Amino acid sequence: MPLTIKRHKRMAVNICLSVLIGTFPIVCGIVTLHSLANRTLEQQSESATKAAIQQFNAMLDSAEGATSDTYRLAGSPCEDVQFLLREQATQRLFVRTVGVTLNDEFYCSSLFGKFFEHIRPTDYVNGQLLLSFGNVVTPDIPVLIYRKSENEKGALAVIDGRYVKNVLQHTGKGGNSVLIVGPRWMSSSGHVFTAEHKKFPIAETRISSKKYFFSVASGFNSGEVLRHIEKNYIDLFGVFIFLGLSAGAFTYWTLGRAIPPSQELKRALSAGEFIPYIQPIVSAEDESWIGAEILMRWNHSSDGLVSPDLFIPYAEHSGLIVPMTQSIMMQVAKQLAPISQKLSKGFHIGFNISNHHCHDIELIHDCQYFLNAFPKDSITLVLEITEREIIEPGATTYELFDRLNNMGVKIALDDFGTGHSSLDYLRKFKVDYLKIDKSFVSMIGEDSLSTHIIESILALSEKINLSVVAEGIETPEQQKYLKERKVKYLQGYLYSRPLPLDIFIEKINQASINNQAQAQLSNS
Ligand code: C2E
Ligand code: CA
Ligand code: CA
Repeated sequence: MPLTIKRHKRMAVNICLSVLIGTFPIVCGIVTLHSLANRTLEQQSESATKAAIQQFNAMLDSAEGATSDTYRLAGSPCEDVQFLLREQATQRLFVRTVGVTLNDEFYCSSLFGKFFEHIRPTDYVNGQLLLSFGNVVTPDIPVLIYRKSENEKGALAVIDGRYVKNVLQHTGKGGNSVLIVGPRWMSSSGHVFTAEHKKFPIAETRISSKKYFFSVASGFNSGEVLRHIEKNYIDLFGVFIFLGLSAGAFTYWTLGRAIPPSQELKRALSAGEFIPYIQPIVSAEDESWIGAEILMRWNHSSDGLVSPDLFIPYAEHSGLIVPMTQSIMMQVAKQLAPISQKLSKGFHIGFNISNHHCHDIELIHDCQYFLNAFPKDSITLVLEITEREIIEPGATTYELFDRLNNMGVKIALDDFGTGHSSLDYLRKFKVDYLKIDKSFVSMIGEDSLSTHIIESILALSEKINLSVVAEGIETPEQQKYLKERKVKYLQGYLYSRPLPLDIFIEKINQASINNQAQAQLSNS
């Protein structure tokens, strides 16, 4: 069977398929876990950003409260407002210092009292918020300054950068969050940078506060997705690996199981993989093609052209040989009928018919269908029944052979001399031709027993008036020997190998053109 012919090729295909199928759940698992991790990280980053926004809003609300309560005091002497400023700085959460400004001159602070510093409103985002590297009190600790002003009066509330840093650290949840105020931003390590903040490589969320002029960005560094999977989904990943290995192993096992021959033959039959080859039979007189034997081939989808010896026994055993032969007969009828006028008159077309078919009355219909495809009497249908396979004739068999005989179908006894029932067959069925098996022909001139058998067959055929076909002729010596003994029909590689039908038709067409040209030449 082709299934067993190219084992390594099949094994390689099976391994590739199993690996492919086994990899599928693993790849699906990786994709699923990757998107799950991504989603989780995105959610984490979003909730961290929102939490930070909320807390910064609360801080700035506090600063806003401190400045709202104090900016109107601007212009009053520092001694008069200092106490009030201290009260605000003490009472307001997160606020470290409160001060008032007049015409952008910072002149009174809750911490120092009288104090002088010029304020540049343009340093503040929208005149409201400044993220500063530090101030005179704590030059190394960044501060977030909230400014409120109306006309020439103004107030400042300073929030300690360490609060900001705390918020960024605690809301980050394993990721990173930064506070962005205008052109500056503060990292969760508490450092302030003047540069555009680069996007986080993974799951970045950036939200701007609706109340104040700042935004918060959160996200994760590259490699975080894998770290997250490793940390949280390693068990699930194990499940996918297990599923992949199981699927691969199961596929390998299933593919490795031998497909029942009958199932494979059925598939091939419905795929139209059984095709006819044709080998010409020549007249011993002039070597013209007076007939042909149809030989089945399996044009296997992956194993190529398969010899009938490898699959006919399975086809016979399963009974599929009947529909397979029917398919071959239909293909031959379809292709040869259109060129039947180019074949010699009464051209013999022989099919090998197995024992199974000889018990099936359907054979009558198959032959009738075949004959009807051709113009009447243009061809002779020959059924070759082999002597190797013993036909147990029943009532149907006799009726069948009678009716075939009446239809003009000829019977050839194939492989004559190789079985034990040669004479029995000749008595029971009306046989028209004897085919001398190629095993005897190949021994001509080499083996005296084979030569003796051939001589006996020829003597017998002469006595009971049967025509003889010799098959398997490969050498001119064999041809000479058979011609000398008046064998009428010859078949073998010496004349032609079995051919695909289209090549045979091409040759017939060419011969017909040559004949016409010759006829015209002799007429002129
Ligand atoms: P067979 O009916 O005896 O067919 C003759 C075999 O001899 C063919 O082999 C043919 O290719 C081969 N042959 C022809 N000339 C020469 C030659 O000069 N030298 C050598 N060495 N061989 C030659 P193939 O085609 O491989 O068929 C083998 C057998 O398979 C056939 O033996 C026949 O028994 C069976 N078979 C083929 N087609 C069918 C079919 O459609 N139905 C059935 N039931 N059996 C078939
Ligand atoms: Ca044959
Ligand atoms: Ca034979």
